[in-house]
Amino acid sequence: MSGKQENYKILMFPWLAHGHISPFTELAKRLVHRNFHVFLCSTPVNLESFRKSTFDPSLEFVDFHLSSTELPKKYHTTKNLPTHLMPTLKAAFDESKENFRNILKTIKPDILIYDFLQPWAPQVASEEGINSVVLLPCGAACFSFVAHYSIHPEMEFPFEPLRFPETDLENSEIIHAIINSNESKERFLKCFEMSSASFILINSSNQIEATYINYLSELVNKEVVPVGFLVQEPVKTPDDSVFLNWLSEKTTKSVVFVSFGSEYFLTKKEIEEVALGLEISGVSFIWVVRFPVGEKMNLDEALPQGFRKRVGDRGMIVEGWAPQAKILSHSSVGWFLSHCGWNSILEAITCRVPVITIPVQLDQPMNSRLVTELGIGIEVRRDGRRYTRGQIARAIKKVLVEEDGKEMEKNVDKLSSEVRGNCEFEMNAAVKRLVELAQG
Ligand code: UDP
Repeated sequence: MSGKQENYKILMFPWLAHGHISPFTELAKRLVHRNFHVFLCSTPVNLESFRKSTFDPSLEFVDFHLSSTELPKKYHTTKNLPTHLMPTLKAAFDESKENFRNILKTIKPDILIYDFLQPWAPQVASEEGINSVVLLPCGAACFSFVAHYSIHPEMEFPFEPLRFPETDLENSEIIHAIINSNESKERFLKCFEMSSASFILINSSNQIEATYINYLSELVNKEVVPVGFLVQEPVKTPDDSVFLNWLSEKTTKSVVFVSFGSEYFLTKKEIEEVALGLEISGVSFIWVVRFPVGEKMNLDEALPQGFRKRVGDRGMIVEGWAPQAKILSHSSVGWFLSHCGWNSILEAITCRVPVITIPVQLDQPMNSRLVTELGIGIEVRRDGRRYTRGQIARAIKKVLVEEDGKEMEKNVDKLSSEVRGNCEFEMNAAVKRLVELAQG
């Protein structure tokens, strides 16, 4: 596509989390390919890795500095942030509204595309005479659920797969915050209301979430427009050879990839349960274990005694970070034991890998239910509120050893093909809406 939109400038402003910046960057790249001039703004620490991996002169990264001097710069991101500092980061972000205004004044974009955690961003845009639209980086199942309880707290959610037992609700910080705090509800709804656009963009596809996309539109009274999956194309780098060599020694679809995303840190007890669950299951695995910056536990102290020796070459344990999308696209990976962050779910579908779900917080319980509803995975059962080695091993064996997963493998394969066919079409429809918005 070329032509008029060549002149349009778009400023993208995600929340300070890797899992949010990543889909915003993917959308930025797709808009650049359609001749928009795109700016993506975040804190320098967040932009570091995106600057390295994204080369395109029509995509410019803009440093957004937080006003707070109290929070060291390395903590201007949720990635590796010690959990107790999250409220400080959120406050520092809100307090930096005027820094954001200066960026808007300098760039003067035609459109601001912002995230759902900063209702002040569209407000500042409106004060500066700039059009704005929100991009929801996570799924419609989650957002319709949260919008439903914000607007109709007394009514049960209309779709059965997303009705949760009390214990699951207590575990999900986001639901807890919405149900218990008027301030959170207002802030959340304001993000939809404040945009000048009559539509909302969402990182999803009608192929997987049509029911929830329609229900969300009805709830917030704005059309919800899916842009397709904003998933990065895996690019090979020399650093990946250690993973890819290890995987190439394994048989097709025999390995489970295990990750809890970029923000959640397992407790010592949880590390023990996951480790022993993997050990009991008897399958091969790659497991990424993360610790918060500055609170580094020793991995060997955290793992159960003798674990590494007992699993030997059957298990690869990675501290910190692994190239998830590349690992998932390797033919030796059969299943993904995942915390169900939204990006992880979209990457699993794209790479045709079914999911064993182990949701821990935020939108993850809703995403997990969507996975089972789509028939592309199973949930690890909890014993009370906790995940135990026995239930983890049981779920893995059920799908990998006892062959109960064959149907889900077929389903994810089919779904992946359908989504691929549809995403380009959805992106083009969304671009049309953006051009209309820019033309005012
Ligand atoms: N990711 C990765 N390597 C890791 C951990 C995470 O590449 O070791 C990427 C993953 O591929 C996904 C993102 O980080 O794109 C995590 O986003 P998600 O929404 O799944 O979870 P969150 O981090 O927001 O909990």
